[in-house]
Amino acid sequence: MEDLRKRGIRDEAVLAAMMAVPRHFFLDKAFEEHAYEDKPFPIGNEQTISQPYTVAYQSSLLSVKAGDRILEIGTGSGYQAAVLAALGARVYTVERQESLYLHARDLLQTLGFRTVQCFFRDGGLGLPAYAPFDKILVTAGAATVPEPLKEQLMIGGVLVIPVGNQVQKMTRVTRVSAKEFREEVLDDFRFVPFLKGTAKI
Ligand code: SAH
Repeated sequence: MEDLRKRGIRDEAVLAAMMAVPRHFFLDKAFEEHAYEDKPFPIGNEQTISQPYTVAYQSSLLSVKAGDRILEIGTGSGYQAAVLAALGARVYTVERQESLYLHARDLLQTLGFRTVQCFFRDGGLGLPAYAPFDKILVTAGAATVPEPLKEQLMIGGVLVIPVGNQVQKMTRVTRVSAKEFREEVLDDFRFVPFLKGTAKI
């Protein structure tokens, strides 16, 4: 956590939530001993668990308040969803790869994260049945901001999404009114790609 502080993460609630969620539960056994290094790791099917700095950075941008309803696109290991839950949010998390969805769903249940619901869907469509959301977080690199996600934000709601192809600019979109959105373009990151459709792998 000192490393995250040194790299500029100032949100104490985020740092406390990350301390409270053991990252090693979310990694393959093979990487367990490295769980607290600031690196991404494979979680199967060519996907990775985001590195702690990225989780801290995205979580801070959301300014999570207890009771926020948050949609996450890209469940992956379930670690980011667990950190949002530890911040007091009710989390709806969507994954397009079936095996990752099943694994994260079972793991989060076993660990007792009752405020996280997992869905096997194409996150590009959002989750209209549960919209609108206070916050939306995308954890895969998207070429553009999907319109359905903007439409599923509350007025005053915030969408955090890495935008770009090889390298992504972290982007924060705030819904100012029904039709107006304010966009802030922030630092560079590298995420696995945001893909269309679902995959039975
Ligand atoms: N938040 C994750 C990071 C996982 S990497 C964690 O904490 O571990 C990003 C994930 O996004 C991958 O699992 C990938 O399968 C998923 N993904 C990519 N495009 C998607 C889409 N359109 N809908 C849902 N999930 C998607």
